[in-house]
Amino acid sequence: MVKSQLLAIIVVGVGVSCTKSSSSNDTTPSKEESTLVDSIPAQAVSILKQQEISALEKQMIDQGLVDVQEVEPDIRVELKYSKTDNFIKKDVYGELTRAYLQPAIAKKLAKASEILKRNHPDHSLLIYDAARPNSVQYQLWDALDDLKIPARSKTQYVADPRIGSIHNFGCAVDLTVANAEGVPLDMGTPYDFFGPLAYPRMESQLLREGKLTTRQVANRNTLRQAMTQAGFSVNPTEWWHFDGMSRNAAKARYGMIK
Ligand SMILES: [Zn+2]
Repeated sequence: MVKSQLLAIIVVGVGVSCTKSSSSNDTTPSKEESTLVDSIPAQAVSILKQQEISALEKQMIDQGLVDVQEVEPDIRVELKYSKTDNFIKKDVYGELTRAYLQPAIAKKLAKASEILKRNHPDHSLLIYDAARPNSVQYQLWDALDDLKIPARSKTQYVADPRIGSIHNFGCAVDLTVANAEGVPLDMGTPYDFFGPLAYPRMESQLLREGKLTTRQVANRNTLRQAMTQAGFSVNPTEWWHFDGMSRNAAKARYGMIK
């Protein structure tokens, strides 16, 4: 584990709220921070880390959210923000590896899984992200500064945390379809690819231009059919994102997950 990650865990673990980075090269700890990191024993770091994990997960359980796999064990989960394999290259979930949703949305997703299995018995839904606490939304938002994304363009990548993403209410899910071996089907772009190639609304044109193959569009349709038949709505610019409810409805019915 690199020191910057370690430091991030410690900072989060002691409950310091996430604020915008004051400088762009803040991946290198200052002399003071290095001393802090070096002086904390590994065991203490582990305890801090566990406290943070339980805080994130406990918060969701306390707010009535459910572990999706407890509702439908056939659904696979691989949270991209719990690894560094994501567009900000940062693990912002720590040890949180389970996907949580509002119970009604988890039930809808179980229905989508059932529809998928009916048509493709050896395929499974594979969740990349589900309920996302608002504190994490701030971390993603702030990480865009490190990527040098201009302030006016930030909402093209991440929903403004002050308004909140539907993920922040536990009513949206990012996912794909995996084959019998658990390997994701080819959807034409990776998860969190920002650009027209990921836009469902551009698929017919991209297909005509040879930028997406018939197979890739068919794979997206497999996912979309299962999701829309279960009552989810499609996002016009992200093939992987589905809403189980509008933001207004989610806001009125559930509080934001802090
Ligand atoms: Zn999403």
